[in-house]
Amino acid sequence: MSNSPARILDGKALAARIREGLKKEVAKLAAEGCPPGLAVILVGEDPASQVYVRNKQRACEELGIRSWKHHLPADTSQKDLVQLVEEINADPAVHGILVQLPLPAHIQTEAVLDTIDPAKDVDGFHPVNLGLLAAGRPGVVPCTPAGVMELVKESGVEVAGKECVIVGRSNIVGKPLAFLFLHEHGTVTICHSRTRNLAEVCRRADILVVAVGRAGLVNGEMIKPGAVVIDVGINRTAEGKLTGDVDFASAVQQAGTITPVPGGVGPMTIAMLMKNTVAAARRAMQQLD
Ligand code: NAD
Repeated sequence: MSNSPARILDGKALAARIREGLKKEVAKLAAEGCPPGLAVILVGEDPASQVYVRNKQRACEELGIRSWKHHLPADTSQKDLVQLVEEINADPAVHGILVQLPLPAHIQTEAVLDTIDPAKDVDGFHPVNLGLLAAGRPGVVPCTPAGVMELVKESGVEVAGKECVIVGRSNIVGKPLAFLFLHEHGTVTICHSRTRNLAEVCRRADILVVAVGRAGLVNGEMIKPGAVVIDVGINRTAEGKLTGDVDFASAVQQAGTITPVPGGVGPMTIAMLMKNTVAAARRAMQQLD
C-alpha cells in the first residue's frame, strides 16, 4: 500500500506565532517595570556557536528582550568563567543566563552549568531543573525538548497511549524529552548507540524523534506508515548544506507528519528559549510583589 506524502510541519511558522504571542508579554512586563533580560556567555571562536548566539540575540531584539553578550577568549579559566556566572546570578536585571555549549576542553561544563542560579537557568540544564522535570514538578524545561513537544502538539496527534521512540539519550535532548512524553502518558523507548535492531524499534513508533547527529541514520523503511517524525539532528553535507538525521526523501513517503531540517526543530528551540526567559522574568517580578 502506498502512502500519500507526509504533512510537513513548519517549525519556522509555528515559532514565529509563538514569538508574536511573547512580544505582548514582554511589553507588559516592561510596562510593569521588569523588562525581561537574557545574558549569553560565549567562550572561544567556534563558528557554529557564534551563529547560534547571533540568532538568539536577534530573537531577543525582535521581542524587545534586553540581552547582553559576554564573549570571552578561548583560554578563559574555569575559575574566571564561574566568577562571571556568579556575578550575573546577582544581577537583578538579568532573568536568564545561557552558557553556549560546547565549552573549551579545559573547562568542566558541569561545574559551570551547576553555578547558574536554577531560577535563571533558561536552558533548563541545571540538575535541579532536570530533577524537577523527572519528578513532574514545575521547573524550567530544556528548550529543544519543549520545542519538540510543541511540534507534536501541532501535528494534532495525541501522545496518550502512543509508542514514543526517541533516538539519542543526551542530557539536553533525549532524556528530558522522555520525561515530557511520559508526563503526556506516552509509552516511551529511548534508543542509543548500543541499541540492537534500531530499525525494528523505530518501526514501532507512532511518534519518532531522532536526535543523534548522524545524517540519514533513519530512513523511510524504519518508519511506521503514518507516524509523526521529528528530526532534531543538525548535520552539514559535503556541499555545506544543513541536513537532519532523517533521510527526508524516503521518510516523507512513509510518515504522516514530518519536520524538515532546516525549518523544523531549530526555530522552535529559540522560541522556547525566549519563552523560558519571559517566564523567568515573570517569576522574578512576582517575587518582588
Ligand atoms: P549527543 O552527541 O550528546 O548525543 C547523541 C546521542 O546519539 C547519544 O545519546 C548516542 O548514544 C546516540 N547515538 C549515537 N550513535 C547512534 C546510533 N548509531 N544509533 C542510535 N543512537 C546513537 O548529541 P545531542 O547534543 O543530543 O544532539 C543530537 C543532534 O541534535 C545533533 O545533531 C545536534 O546538533 C542536534 N541538536 C539540535 C538542536 C536544535 O535546536 N535543532 C538542539 C540540540 C541538538
